[in-house]
Amino acid sequence: MTIESLRADIVEVGRRMYARGYTASNDGNISVRVGEDRLLMTPKSVCKGFMTPDMMCVTDLAGKKIQGDRDPSSEMLMHLEVYRQRPDVKAVVHAHPPTATGFAVAGIPLDRAVLAEVLTTLGSIPLAEYATPSTAELPDAVRKYIKAHDGMLLANHGALTVGGDLFSAYYKMETIEHFAKISLVARMLGGENLISRDEVMRLQELRGTYGIKAPAPICLDPEAPGQSAQVVVAGAGQDDATCQTVQAPAGTGSMRLVPDLIDAHRRASGDGRRVAGDEAEIRLTYRELSALIEDAIKSLR
Ligand SMILES: [Zn+2]
Repeated sequence: MTIESLRADIVEVGRRMYARGYTASNDGNISVRVGEDRLLMTPKSVCKGFMTPDMMCVTDLAGKKIQGDRDPSSEMLMHLEVYRQRPDVKAVVHAHPPTATGFAVAGIPLDRAVLAEVLTTLGSIPLAEYATPSTAELPDAVRKYIKAHDGMLLANHGALTVGGDLFSAYYKMETIEHFAKISLVARMLGGENLISRDEVMRLQELRGTYGIKAPAPICLDPEAPGQSAQVVVAGAGQDDATCQTVQAPAGTGSMRLVPDLIDAHRRASGDGRRVAGDEAEIRLTYRELSALIEDAIKSLR
């Protein structure tokens, strides 16, 4: 693949992101590895829907501009960190798709076992802690998850995806936004029925069967049996993630989980923190209680 065709591909991906509303005005950025120590990078302060191939900058892996009339993206440091941590990555895409970014703003990772396609490809989509855009804080926040994940949310900011080529990184951005939309609708309709732990493990085996490359295996959170209401945010000083943590209930069948209702109740009562504790007060209508009992009986059959 020539550098000319990669420039054209970046223009095309920028157009698609802008057309889908993943970026507005000048935000978002794209880069591609074009050699041992060379990157093609979108320039600072241009709308991603109206780029031309000649606008791209060539930099080295330290971020020094080698070629180009414009300066590279202000989020270049985040891209450089990804390439440093992941020699297998050939392209990085960053955008602010509205639904996924809504989850990032609400502090909610997309890590529930909901869709087989998402589990077999991305595994989980964690939430990297908030960092001031364009500063060295952002690569620090991304570092915790990038070794084990090809996609993540950036708290109060947007989303980041990586891939073995540009289009694979871009399609992961599409998958994240699509998954966020589905998750939002399911939550508006009363909450997701989660895929069981056993099924998650079966799906993980399919990665091998279909030759899906993933940077790390799926792991199930041992401290949260049957729990899905956790907020998992990377904190300073915590170890880097070595697997893709997914929230899935024990057992073999789908079941609706009690913490979802606690969660909904807390949100309705104005307490935004999703902490499912034993002390939580919960009020249910007769219909909600009946549905809960019915679900519990179904899951025991
Ligand atoms: Zn951004």
